[in-house]
Amino acid sequence: MNWTGTRNLDISSDLKDVLFKGLAPDGGLFMPDNFPKKDITGKGSLQETAVELMRLYFSPDIPNNHLEAIAHEALTFPIPVKKLDDTLYVLELFHGPTLAFKDVGARIMAGLLGFYAESDAPLTILAATSGDTGSAVASAFLGKPQFRVVLLFPEGKVSEIQRQQLTTFGDNVTALEIKGTFDDCQRLVKQAFNDTELRSEKNLTSANSINIGRWLPQAIYYVHAWNQMREIMPNNRALVSVPSGNLGNVAAGLVAFRHGARFRKLIAACNANRTFSDYIESGKYRPRSSVRTVSNAMDVGDPSNYERIHAMYEGDVVSIRKRVGASSHTDLETLGRIKHVYEKYGYIAEPHTAVGFLGIDHQYENFGFEDEPGLVLSTAHPAKFGDVIEQAIDKAPDMPDRLAACFEKPSNAVAMKNDYTDFKAYLHEIE
Ligand SMILES: *Cc1c(COP(=O)(O)O)cnc(C)c1O
Repeated sequence: MNWTGTRNLDISSDLKDVLFKGLAPDGGLFMPDNFPKKDITGKGSLQETAVELMRLYFSPDIPNNHLEAIAHEALTFPIPVKKLDDTLYVLELFHGPTLAFKDVGARIMAGLLGFYAESDAPLTILAATSGDTGSAVASAFLGKPQFRVVLLFPEGKVSEIQRQQLTTFGDNVTALEIKGTFDDCQRLVKQAFNDTELRSEKNLTSANSINIGRWLPQAIYYVHAWNQMREIMPNNRALVSVPSGNLGNVAAGLVAFRHGARFRKLIAACNANRTFSDYIESGKYRPRSSVRTVSNAMDVGDPSNYERIHAMYEGDVVSIRKRVGASSHTDLETLGRIKHVYEKYGYIAEPHTAVGFLGIDHQYENFGFEDEPGLVLSTAHPAKFGDVIEQAIDKAPDMPDRLAACFEKPSNAVAMKNDYTDFKAYLHEIE
C-alpha cells in the first residue's frame, strides 16, 4: 500500500512516513492510494477483525505477527452491541481505559508507532487537548520506554474529571497547564513542529486525530458491529448514527462499508456546529466558527475529515448523500433526549451519544426508513459527563472504578504561561 494525499494524488508516501508526519506536505490528509476489494469477516472476534483490517492496509510494511500483537495489546476491552428494543441498538465504544471511543484509535496508533520507534532515541509525542483526546493518547503510550508524552491543556477550560485524568498519569507523561485557550495550546505545538532548531535535537511527533494510525483502525468496530448485528437481526441493514465533530469516525465507517459492513446508511449526528449537516443539505461546504455546547468534543466548525469524505466520493455530493445523512441538534434537544432515553429504556446516554439518538429520529421523520432499525454509536461513558446527566435526569451516573481511581492519585500539572520560549525550554529539559 502506498499513501497519497486528499489534495494531491501525486503524493506517494510509505507507511512509516505517513505515521510520523501525520499531515501530507501540502497540508492535506493522507489517504490509501486504493481501497482493497475485500470483505472482512474476522470470525466474529474483535481482535481477529482488527488483524484482518490492518493486514489490508499495513502489511507487509509491518509483519503479520506484529499486527497480531498490536491488536491484542490495544484491544483489551469489549465493544458490544446492546439491544434497547427491536428497533434500537447501541454500540458501546467506551469500555477502554479512559472511557471514550478515542482509546481505540490512540491505542492502535501507539502499537504502530511502537513498531518503528527505536528505544535509544525516545520520541516525544506532543498533544494539545481540550479534554478526551489527551487522556486517550497519554494512556495509550503510558509506560512505553520509547516514548515521552507532553500534553498541553488550557487552564480552567476542561472539566474537573478531565483535569484529574490528564494530570495523574505520571511515568513518561507530563501535563502542561497553559494559561490560555485550547487554540493557544495548539499554536504552541505547531510552533514546536516548525522550529527546525528544536527538531534537529528532539524527535517530535504528534498524535493528532487525523493521523492514519488513529483514523483508519476505527473502521474495525463497524465491521465488528456488523458481525454482531448479523447474529441478533435477520435483516441487518440498520441506519448507523455517529455522534460527529471532526468527522473521523464517520469517515472510518465509510471505509468499513468497503469491507463488508453493508449498513444502510451512516448518519453524522452533529450538535449546533452544523457545517457538515448544512453541506449535506445544500451541497456547499462553508466552515464556521465553532460554538460551545454540552457535547463539547464535537464543537468543531471546520471538520478536518470532510476532506477525506470528499476525496472518497470525488467530491460528488449526490453519491455522498446516498451513503451519509446528517443532522444538527441543539443543547435543549440533547438534554431532552437524555431524559427520554432514560425514561423509556432505563439507559443513560451521555450528551454526545444523545445527539446520536436524535440523528436516527431525524432520518425517520424526514426520509422514511422506518423499517430500518437504528444503531447508535456511544462514544463516551456517562460518568465523564456527570454534570450534564444530572442536569437532564436529576441523577448522577455511576462512576467506574478506573475513573474513581484517578481521584486518589496526586495531580501533577506543570503550570506554564502561554509563551513559546518557556515551552521550548521545557522540551529541552526533558530527556
Ligand atoms: C471526539 C469525540 C467525538 C467526535 O468524533 P469525530 O471523529 O471527531 O467526529 C464524539 N464523541 C466523543 C465523546 C468524542 O470524544
